[in-house]
Amino acid sequence: MEARIVVLPGDGVGPEVTREAVACLQAVADLYGHQFTFEEALIGGAAVDACGDPLPARTLELCRGAAAVLLGAVGGPAWDKHPRDQRPESGLLRLRQGLGLYANLRPVKVHPALEDASPVRPEIVRGTDMMIVRELSGGLYFGEPRMFSPERAVNTLPYSREEILRVARVAFDLAQNRRRKLVSVDKANVLETSRLWRQVVDEVAVDYPEVAVQHAYVDSFAMALVARPRDFDVVLTENLFGDILSDEAAVLAGSLGLLPSASLGGTVGLFEPIHGSAPDIAGRDQANPIGTILSAAMLLRHALGLTEEALALEAAVDRTLHAGHGTSDLRGATHPQGTASLGAVIRAALTKDPVKPLPGVLPT
Ligand code: NAD
Repeated sequence: MEARIVVLPGDGVGPEVTREAVACLQAVADLYGHQFTFEEALIGGAAVDACGDPLPARTLELCRGAAAVLLGAVGGPAWDKHPRDQRPESGLLRLRQGLGLYANLRPVKVHPALEDASPVRPEIVRGTDMMIVRELSGGLYFGEPRMFSPERAVNTLPYSREEILRVARVAFDLAQNRRRKLVSVDKANVLETSRLWRQVVDEVAVDYPEVAVQHAYVDSFAMALVARPRDFDVVLTENLFGDILSDEAAVLAGSLGLLPSASLGGTVGLFEPIHGSAPDIAGRDQANPIGTILSAAMLLRHALGLTEEALALEAAVDRTLHAGHGTSDLRGATHPQGTASLGAVIRAALTKDPVKPLPGVLPT
């Protein structure tokens, strides 16, 4: 297969982690005989410094014509005092809007070697493997009218039937190919928007008779998420609740640096780790590249339809963690190392036969 992938390294640790993920994609291409071309473009603070715009028109144009976009992270203290439209994060929001992305997928999996790295007890997090699907383009963050005065401020939480339908379909499709359980999280006892959300989710459910559907209120679900995380398979929710719940769920895995994400819906998907630019460790070869490498695996699966290749890359990460390798953010790692060297170990572990032992490292 031939594919053109746009790479947006961004700021802070972004360039360090995307470098490793691109090298992994190249290794996958070599192993399976694909032809990937990588084109780098500016976003975030790096783009503000270079051309005064956190999302230059050329970057958006390149992304629109690509098979997929791989992003590192944006932001940092250097740009914190810039006006809102000159801030790195506004570049990312505009990119998501410009690509029409409405479904944000965040898998949260607790690796057996890292059960002790989570602040939640190992016997609770053991076996956790869920997919959070967050609506990304509607709701409170985009609702109009919005208004601020020193005495009163207003935000609005609108959802249309169509906006709920399309993200629900993404979640049900995922559930169909996983453990066939879906929980839809809302606040239907208080919010009209949530009542509509519930109604539409039930309508979509009719087309997926094999998927067991549950509805939960966001407050009690927030407790269940840390009390019994392994009960959940696909979690579907709106923008604001998804923002909060997906960060809460991230804690279960042990480090922000491990977790990938995919934003889908338009013609081109965006794949990025969930962490930010980590300015405190940037440029020191300390960042964990696994979140970005697993985002590259999601890119293979969701943007290019290369399921076997995605599984091979995920298996390489699994075996690397299992053998005790990891960056210093992982408490369970018995072979701590830097960003580049961890990336190299993962590539060395890449094989079409994922059950083969990892060369040159001790099994645990
Ligand atoms: P952050 O995710 O950058 O960092 C939080 C903590 O996690 C830090 O201690 C950091 O060192 C650690 N960390 C993050 N990624 C890591 C990795 N790969 N390996 C090891 N440790 C890692 O969040 P923050 O400090 O709140 O934000 C820093 C900047 O990033 C801000 O400018 C913020 O706006 C931006 N940000 C960007 C994104 C994005 O690009 N999608 C997301 C969140 C925050």
